[in-house]
Amino acid sequence: MRHNRDVLLASAAMLSVLASPAVIPRPLDYSPKPGAFRLSWSTTIIASAEALDEAQFLARSLRPATGFPLPVRGGNAEAPDSIVLLLDTSPEVAALGREGYVLAIAPDRIVARSTAPAGLFYAVQTLRQMLPHESLLPTKQTNDWLIPCARITDKPRFAWRGMHLDVSRHFFPPEFIKRFIDLIALHKFNVFHWHLIDDGGWRMESLQYPLLTERGAWRSAPKRGEWSQSALNFPGTRSGDEYGGYYTRAEIREIVAYAAQRHVTVVPEIELPGHTLPSIVCYPNLACDPPGGNQNVYCAGSEKTFEFLENILDETLDLFPSPYIHIGGDEVYKGWWENCTRCRGRMAQEGLRDVDELQSYFVRRIDAFLTARGRKLIGWDEILEGGLAPNATVMSWRGTQGGIEAVRQGRDAIMCPTSHCYFDYSYGTTPTEEVYLFDPAPEALAPDEASRILGAQGNLWTEWMPDEERVLHMAFPRAAALAEAVWLPQERKDLDDFLRRLNAHYARLDALGVTYRIPAPQPTAATLTFDEVAIVAFQPAPPGMVIRFTTDGAAPDASSPVYRQPFKISAGTVVRAATFSLRSSHPSDEVRLACVLPHEQREGNLVPGVAYRLYHGSWSRLPDFDALVPVATGATDRIGVHVKQREEQYGVRFEGYLNISADGEYEFQLGSDDGSVLRIAGAMVVDNNGLHAFVERSARVRMKRGVYPFVLDYFEQGGADAVSLRIEGPAPVELLRAGE
Ligand SMILES: [Zn+2]
Repeated sequence: MRHNRDVLLASAAMLSVLASPAVIPRPLDYSPKPGAFRLSWSTTIIASAEALDEAQFLARSLRPATGFPLPVRGGNAEAPDSIVLLLDTSPEVAALGREGYVLAIAPDRIVARSTAPAGLFYAVQTLRQMLPHESLLPTKQTNDWLIPCARITDKPRFAWRGMHLDVSRHFFPPEFIKRFIDLIALHKFNVFHWHLIDDGGWRMESLQYPLLTERGAWRSAPKRGEWSQSALNFPGTRSGDEYGGYYTRAEIREIVAYAAQRHVTVVPEIELPGHTLPSIVCYPNLACDPPGGNQNVYCAGSEKTFEFLENILDETLDLFPSPYIHIGGDEVYKGWWENCTRCRGRMAQEGLRDVDELQSYFVRRIDAFLTARGRKLIGWDEILEGGLAPNATVMSWRGTQGGIEAVRQGRDAIMCPTSHCYFDYSYGTTPTEEVYLFDPAPEALAPDEASRILGAQGNLWTEWMPDEERVLHMAFPRAAALAEAVWLPQERKDLDDFLRRLNAHYARLDALGVTYRIPAPQPTAATLTFDEVAIVAFQPAPPGMVIRFTTDGAAPDASSPVYRQPFKISAGTVVRAATFSLRSSHPSDEVRLACVLPHEQREGNLVPGVAYRLYHGSWSRLPDFDALVPVATGATDRIGVHVKQREEQYGVRFEGYLNISADGEYEFQLGSDDGSVLRIAGAMVVDNNGLHAFVERSARVRMKRGVYPFVLDYFEQGGADAVSLRIEGPAPVELLRAGE
């Protein structure tokens, strides 16, 4: 009776935690009730005739760990010791829509009601997460299978809740695709966007064009784990060490059916007119005249192109019942069209002013083809250029602006901006917390515009994800955060509550063998202290994980001491800490904390301002400015790019003193595009190095009253440029420099 003892020992705060289960996405309304339902050998599952598949799904998912028979039978009557899934058309239930449900958990029975099987399927996913996490293990466990009593009323905010996977840059076998679908279904996603075709390989078997997979699915370079767009090569003869793979039509049908049982629609993406090198290598008559070297764009002037694509799309529609077909449309290099006699002929014949309008013509023809067959076209936001096809839905990836523009034109849109939804970006660039806070329908939209935002999805581009472990590492826990971002209304989201539930959710992901990213230790105080001593303190690690640390400069490993309580370090000490899971061999990213005794380094008289040195050069990371000769030096009143003399390929070292007038903790927020680094009194404070769009990183520093020398290095390679330093603390901080 371990659970009872735990409850007796628990504090009131703990009880409230127990009362709210760690379900992700969190149900819309959850009312705890006294008691618990105990799943047992004698429990039966009863379901309306139309919901027997959902009942079987529940039974199949619970049998391995519980070892219970859990027989399923049809019926519409509740009975003791049963889980009942009922279709219900009463107004209260109907108001929740096809994906909504009411779930009543009482000590003697559980009853789920929805107007449609989809809602019952989501009630089942909620139940799976309310059981102990051991219920997700593949082998029999001894456990008390309790589900806390509650009444839950739930429905999603968005109709499109998607996850995307690129299987072209790296190929993943059908078994993994099914596992991926299982994982997203557990999080109540309902769309799997399958990126089947791209320059890295053609992955869909074709009846009419067998070369597409005989040759176009197998590249000789780059191999698994590597990526180089310019080195792509499909030799056609098989020496045995090519990289690739494809899905047979039978495998695709099986995956589509498997997904449908989990209420996941598989949306195929047939990339056109660009990103399609393999098809043009295999069928060179699809290229322009003259053909370009490594041309990856179909000729828009040739009828052969449209004949090919219509045949491929007919085969696609035969395999995929999805109402939506994604046609890509992104990043088309139109230089081949400009030089092609046929493409120029088409433009003259159709009265098209430029190649943007030629792409629009291309997409309109495909749109008309799909519309005539009762399907809807989706394209990346580039399809807005040159005019949007009449029935197109826009998938907005270059920010949310494309989606906003589409809904303002009266079209539908799906949001997946790189800022929040590109899970191939590092966790440093796109943290789980930011994904969680993403609002797919921003407040600036009028209600009728917002209603045309169908939802959002997370994208996994696999150039640098050679295997399944890496895919799952990049996907989770960000996919869990997105699952809640598309399920709950924005005002009902609560980041702290989500992070608390996520700590419990990790155990579920462990049970499912998901190689998720382990969260780094969270310091509760400053990471840098200028004093004789400093306190090191962390938030507790999630259950099943420990924080290990070193103080001798070495990287923490599985034999390093475990952090148990706050401790003191003296000046000159650096603490390196990482989270270790008991179930995984890979620790989290590392966190460093330091205690530094600053030397009094002020030189002569100090005046307001900051000194700078400007450098010219091309870098992908900050160079050693000390080894370079500046093109200009001077003084200015603030940190910024205004000191530049050209727009690109320059760097600046800002140097001066921080006048700290009150003891306390200061937060330094360093933002830049591209990279920057802030050091105070020789100690690293914020590392924002590397090539990237504007990113702000911050650090908390405990400082005593005094004057501290600082160095802020910044560089710009190309594109937009910006650098900023914001300081918050108990008193304003003045920038000073050595006077003349
Ligand atoms: Zn052409």
